[in-house]
Amino acid sequence: MGKRKSARKPQARVKKVLDTQFDCVSCFHEKSINCKLDFDQKVGHLQCRMCGVTYTCAINYLSHAVDVYHDWIDACEAVNASAKAGRSSASDRDRGDRDRDRDRERERDRSRDDGDRERPRRSKPYDRYDDDD
Ligand SMILES: [Zn+2]
Repeated sequence: MGKRKSARKPQARVKKVLDTQFDCVSCFHEKSINCKLDFDQKVGHLQCRMCGVTYTCAINYLSHAVDVYHDWIDACEAVNASAKAGRSSASDRDRGDRDRDRDRERERDRSRDDGDRERPRRSKPYDRYDDDD
């Protein structure tokens, strides 16, 4: 039995292309970000073909696609940071609400104490039926 020649091994084609495809930090797809540089308008665009997120920033004649991409990541991190800050301040507000609730509860307890002193209706619930009759 002759060994089959494996002469035509599929080779990984390494295409040397400019690095204009990047991983999306929004949907985490790999190589789904396409960058375009418009040197006439001096703006760089990128768009994710998976989630459709877009970003535009100013570029100069030295800019590369990777610069636009890194600019976008910086912008995303800034957004994330502010979102995190927003969340923490929201939890601060929650804490404040809880404090206020505790205060209200104390207030309610105090007023209930007053009411109980005036009319002890809770000790004998059946008294009410006697009153109604
Ligand atoms: Zn995406």
